[in-house]
Amino acid sequence: MSALQQARFFTTVDRLHQLPLLGLPELAFAGRSNAGKSTAINTIAHQKRLAFASKTPGRTQHLNFFAVGTHPDDPDMPAGFMVDLPGYGYAEVSRESRSHWQETLGTYIRKRSELVGLVLIMDARRPFTDLDETLVQWFAKTDKPIHALLTKADKLNRSDRASALRATRTRLAELSPFHTAQLFSALDKTGVDEADLRICELLGLPIPVDVSVDADLQVERTKKTPVQGE
Ligand code: GDP
Repeated sequence: MSALQQARFFTTVDRLHQLPLLGLPELAFAGRSNAGKSTAINTIAHQKRLAFASKTPGRTQHLNFFAVGTHPDDPDMPAGFMVDLPGYGYAEVSRESRSHWQETLGTYIRKRSELVGLVLIMDARRPFTDLDETLVQWFAKTDKPIHALLTKADKLNRSDRASALRATRTRLAELSPFHTAQLFSALDKTGVDEADLRICELLGLPIPVDVSVDADLQVERTKKTPVQGE
């Protein structure tokens, strides 16, 4: 079983000085609101309500931390965190909260040393909105890896899926030297194993064995790190 299936809510953070001080790797999940970020996190974790925390009134502008895995030296500590960043692009957001978003997210994305990568969640029908571009441009400067998850792939036919993936890879290649991209659907489960594998790899968690992945995913997938306890 993948370590992501035991993901659990850890903490919620509104201001950057509240960030955990544990020095554990963090993988951020970002996306335009309604892109399918909560659904993707829940699907990957095989849970119905994990990312529900991020939708709770008062927490939608917060960074929500989900603990994953077990620390090799301390069974009471997680191995790392999936960090659900506030969804962006609400039409009705005030200028004040937009600048709070820019400041909080911008600083976190650019400066957080625990951050090991970014999972960029985009609707496969509308990748790279202006705000996605802004976020990637901020993040690309850190030279950390970006993994694009193109959600709601079930809404596209085969050829449109392929061209969405191609266009995303082309744009990512222009922005960042370290990138991967995949199609995803919570509805028909397209890409769930690929996402699991890539997330575990980025967080340094044991790689789930025996997953079948898209041959296009540029991940070293022959590697079989022993599962903890084996
Ligand atoms: P978030 O705001 O990015 O967290 O988006 P949500 O996860 O709440 O999803 C927004 C809407 O898209 C909801 O109505 C979901 O049911 C729908 N949705 C999410 N993922 C998928 C998917 O893979 N396929 C389809 N068809 N709909 C999806």
